[in-house]
Amino acid sequence: MRASRFLLCLTPLLALAQSLPPKEAALLKSIRANTLKAHVSFLASDLLEGRDTPSRGLDIAGEYIAAQFRRVGLEPAGDNATYFQIAPYLKITQPLDNFRIRVELPDGGKAWESTGAKVMPIVYSATNLANLEVVKVALTDEAAKLPAPETVKGKAVILVTSQRVPGLMAKRDELLAMQPAVVITGGFVSQQPRLRPASTKGAGIPIVVTSDSDFTKFAADLPAGPTAAKLTLQTAAPVEEQISLRNVVAKLPGSDPALSKQVVLLTAHYDHVGIAPRGDGDRINNGANDDASGVATVLTLAEAFASRSERPRRTLVFMTYFGEEKGLFGSRHYAEHPLFPLKDTAANLNFEHMGRTDDAEGPKPGKITASGFDYTTIGEVLTQAGKDTDVEAWKHEKNSDAFFGRSDNQALADAGVPALTLAVTWIFPDYHRPTDHWDKIDYTNMERVVRTCALTAERIADTEAPPHWITTNPKVEKYAKAAQALATKTQ
Ligand SMILES: [Zn+2]
Repeated sequence: MRASRFLLCLTPLLALAQSLPPKEAALLKSIRANTLKAHVSFLASDLLEGRDTPSRGLDIAGEYIAAQFRRVGLEPAGDNATYFQIAPYLKITQPLDNFRIRVELPDGGKAWESTGAKVMPIVYSATNLANLEVVKVALTDEAAKLPAPETVKGKAVILVTSQRVPGLMAKRDELLAMQPAVVITGGFVSQQPRLRPASTKGAGIPIVVTSDSDFTKFAADLPAGPTAAKLTLQTAAPVEEQISLRNVVAKLPGSDPALSKQVVLLTAHYDHVGIAPRGDGDRINNGANDDASGVATVLTLAEAFASRSERPRRTLVFMTYFGEEKGLFGSRHYAEHPLFPLKDTAANLNFEHMGRTDDAEGPKPGKITASGFDYTTIGEVLTQAGKDTDVEAWKHEKNSDAFFGRSDNQALADAGVPALTLAVTWIFPDYHRPTDHWDKIDYTNMERVVRTCALTAERIADTEAPPHWITTNPKVEKYAKAAQALATKTQ
């Protein structure tokens, strides 16, 4: 039984490998399960302490990645002929001594208050507000609308939201643009320092996030719109420290005199979420699948392309980002400070969750999926590369669209570059937990899907016409517009 199954699997694979042109076959040959395992096991080792941004573990990971680029002979593509693109950031800590917030209804009515427990004030200077009128804004169902700007300007806003509401972030930004004096909202409270690009202005609407269930109750009982409640808030100024964060980046110049001016970006994030602040036993979030597997993919592709004598026609850029888990910081930094003109950036293949096959919805061996699967023509190249390597490329009915904004492809897409994130699994059992260990990855399967990715990258890099947005899909409208703006840019 075992033997015959083995034969059944092997026969079509051999046939396929033989049918590929020698140049492509040579590329795939050097992609090995053990290489992938070596990279993932180091990056996800306890020594690197979950690669939080910023941390010593992240810095060690960055040095490792640069060393691998050096080993395979890629050219540095970062600042001052190094493998690092430096991003100046501010690390911001908020003192909570003397913090006080109180919202109360008149005449000894209900009140909610905190003197620092379960709150996270996001403020830009020392703040003292007293007896401010409170307006409740509820964005809890699809039909929810924002109030008129004059209703909230200069007032304290209690914001109640639901994740089910589409475009919630955009609505929140719109609300902040109405210039309330402060926004108080329920949510996850982190004791970690915040990060902000040093180039951005240290000003904005103060926000107080709280995980206090008493607040949830208090806010739920308030009527929407102007209320009789009054707010008092007192908080110290945040403390800022200058730090340098790093994207790690290398290039393989293209072989074609004209097309080599264009680049194909192959990316993954090398950060993860660090050490859990509390809990018993193992608290290191190793981030093997998320996203040491993506970094290992980039490094293994780098080696495969660099070690072959023939080069693709376009230039390949291999890059790993800091700060994805903090909010796509590294890729946003790159999109704002591109090392290669964005208008000459033909495509971005970003890699996440490449190792595990045990998706929460069932096992996915021999398959590869993508966010924005049918947003660009990259999906078609991927599908054909899958057929040629015996891997099924598939679109997830919900997740392929829903996850588009959940990784670094988003930053490039916003700039107009055809971009997607390739993955084997969406959500897996150990996602963002200390149990995301390197030995749970299926490296044999990973070798197979990374070969599919290599072929996809190669064909995109070699084909005369670059990928483009599929404009018949209404979801790509803003990206296609950005692409058009890029194309008309003179630089
Ligand atoms: Zn990730």
